Amino acid sequence: MSQDLAFPLGATIVGYPWVPSAVVCPSCSGTNLHHTRVDVFDLAHEDAPTGVHVTIRGTQLHVDTDLTANPSARRHGLRIVFRCETCPARPVLTLIQHKGRTEMQWERYCEGDEDTSDD
Ligand SMILES: [Zn+2]
Repeated sequence: MSQDLAFPLGATIVGYPWVPSAVVCPSCSGTNLHHTRVDVFDLAHEDAPTGVHVTIRGTQLHVDTDLTANPSARRHGLRIVFRCETCPARPVLTLIQHKGRTEMQWERYCEGDEDTSDD
């Protein structure tokens, strides 16, 4: 990966040796992020029009076949919605299967994505 494609995914937290790194907020660089929702998209095969979508929010699990929010255009994808303790950002970390590699990137939280839970 070239340096210009890198982004600050983690930060070392001094004084917490059992936690070698933490995901940092892309808005304020704070390390107190709480994931509030996880969406997993699993296609039957590459470019498949059908697949499975699993949402976990709190103690609730939902399974359907709606792939419209899949961050990958052609393969598996994963979205983790965060709430930041120190700023109003609602960053979304995505993992995208792209050919033989897995790519990570931040997305902005989308209004209408009804997740308003605290944790
Ligand atoms: Zn923040």
